[in-house]
Amino acid sequence: MPNSYRRVPHPPFIDLPVSKPAASGYGYTRIPAGSRRIVGVMNHETQGRGSGPWYRDFFSCPGGQRCADALVDYLITRDGTIYRLNDPKNNRSPWANGGPLGLEGDGPAFYARFGASGVNNSLISIEFEKLDNEDFTTAQIQSGGLLNAYWHDQDDQDWETYPYVPRYGCVTSLAHFEIGTTNCGKGELDDISRVQAVARGEMKRWQAMATGPIAPLPPIVPSQPDIPALPGGLSVEEASRRFGTLIKHTPDGKTKPAPFDPRGVISLSWLHRCVETGEWPRPEDWWALTDSGRTLDIVTFSNDWQLIRTADRQGVMWARFADAQLEPVAA
Ligand SMILES: [Zn+2]
Repeated sequence: MPNSYRRVPHPPFIDLPVSKPAASGYGYTRIPAGSRRIVGVMNHETQGRGSGPWYRDFFSCPGGQRCADALVDYLITRDGTIYRLNDPKNNRSPWANGGPLGLEGDGPAFYARFGASGVNNSLISIEFEKLDNEDFTTAQIQSGGLLNAYWHDQDDQDWETYPYVPRYGCVTSLAHFEIGTTNCGKGELDDISRVQAVARGEMKRWQAMATGPIAPLPPIVPSQPDIPALPGGLSVEEASRRFGTLIKHTPDGKTKPAPFDPRGVISLSWLHRCVETGEWPRPEDWWALTDSGRTLDIVTFSNDWQLIRTADRQGVMWARFADAQLEPVAA
């Protein structure tokens, strides 16, 4: 019997919406309500302690420490309570999952499939309240598993292969360090597999209409190639030829050539968009600026495309998505 989808219930949560000004910036991109197409989850750790209201205020404007540059969808505190800080169906696409340019683990394959905008737009962000050296609590693993199950099931993903999705050719349950150069989630892959085991059991329970209690089901993910399947089925050689050489300008005034990198954020963003649009501009200059200003990276192309990164959690985005974010922001 085929699996039946979208029956996994959303686990109980407390709604604590973060307050932000109505314009893009402030840690999110304004989008038409309901237009995020969620395909999975990015699991984060707070690397600090605090209650639900404390984290709501932390991201809120005015006055919150991360008012200007970050927002997440959910927080799960040590006692397993789920707080919803941003409703994924509203008009805010949070900057939660980006980071300095670097992909690891399941990151390159996800990026090759979903491109730059998929990082924040297509992944729910969950913060687990924990310090770097702590494990997830049993209650967090349980709540996190149920929340993961809900979102993966909403996208009609099968419990059998979860967290790998054959039709996408990648894993859609990620830890933050796999997408940005951060230590968020590093060393917690064992905890994240326990979260995924709860999620997989829960998905089976509803999709296969299993009767009786279901134990956690540890996921088995087939090993992935180091070089992800490239958008458009291109070979690395062909992609390299079309890419040419990007020139990177560092803050000390030096330049260095940056050829196509099949595991690189800029290379995969470019290739993803070329295949999507049929346009093949050449990358030209990459200005990597210091943290002092708001703009951290700008990449220009031989047409009017621009990749920019103006906040850590934002990651790189195409400027057409980001124009509004360049408006002055109260620091
Ligand atoms: Zn994180």
